[in-house]
Amino acid sequence: PNGTQRAAENCSLLTIAGSDCSGGAGIQADLKTFAAHGCYGMSVLTALTAQNTMEVKAVHPIPPSFVGDQIRSVIVDVKPHAIKTGMLCNAEIAAEVASVLQAYKHAGSTAPIVCDPVCVSTSGHTLLESDSLGVLLRDIFPICTLVTPNKSEAELLLGHLDEPIEISSLDNILHAADRLASLGRCSVLLKGGHFVSTMEDVHDFSERHPSLQVVKQNLFDENMEILQVVSTGLEPRKLVVDLLYERNGGATAYVRPRIESTSTHGTGCTLSSAIACELAQGNSLRDAVASASMYTHLGILTAQPIGKGNGPLNHLH
Ligand code: PLP
Repeated sequence: PNGTQRAAENCSLLTIAGSDCSGGAGIQADLKTFAAHGCYGMSVLTALTAQNTMEVKAVHPIPPSFVGDQIRSVIVDVKPHAIKTGMLCNAEIAAEVASVLQAYKHAGSTAPIVCDPVCVSTSGHTLLESDSLGVLLRDIFPICTLVTPNKSEAELLLGHLDEPIEISSLDNILHAADRLASLGRCSVLLKGGHFVSTMEDVHDFSERHPSLQVVKQNLFDENMEILQVVSTGLEPRKLVVDLLYERNGGATAYVRPRIESTSTHGTGCTLSSAIACELAQGNSLRDAVASASMYTHLGILTAQPIGKGNGPLNHLH
């Protein structure tokens, strides 16, 4: 547990992110995830996007001062029990979000903040201008409980700090998570969805790092009913490893079978929002990540195809 335990229906969550008009990612994914967890959801928009499952056509940033107005309107009234940030679009918006959240924290808020450092869409469109990376690292990460980069976001962030790295092994993942955690003064969940591992890699890695906790998900647990009903696309020999590096020490590897799927749009948004829901209820970071990553995994596994491109995962209730 992480402080006060709270029932889901008593939790209010705030997402500060961009809109995906096709409903799969961004604010829309966040609000669906909050609702699916039984929590009350609020949303501050940073940018509008014109996009679908195939491409991001255009991005329309909201004026930074209006982003600040939205956040202040929410927090003086309904106090969120956790906050998630997603697409911050540009350095001016990121700086405004940082300044309002820093002031909120100084005024005594203990609401955990989860930052998904969204940089580029799967289809290749820039969602965060590169001059914003410094703002994230300097002004946002230190007020966060958790930051959730994927492989390319971690590479961009460390590259920005003149610590170029290409993540191609579990050792690289551990090193990158460690560096980001100490530079950002926050815990880091480095997501391995774009990186395939094998069980041998995991065994070898955990032997060399005896203090690492390994959490085996789905393939290995008693939940066989779900696996038998929807096993399409599951690749038991290819594993996905997410690595949680906690600021106060301790690393946990979450290991599960990779799913070959075209229904992964909004996966990162959903995972970070689900973690925020778990933290709002008072769960520990380790348990929050375990539960949220399983939620996201099952959402991909049970998704129905939507659209012509990379469609959204399923928001299971
Ligand atoms: N659009 C918005 C508004 C987002 O916030 C994100 C990701 O966070 C995306 C698009 C990218 O979605 P994906 O890369 O999962 O397709």
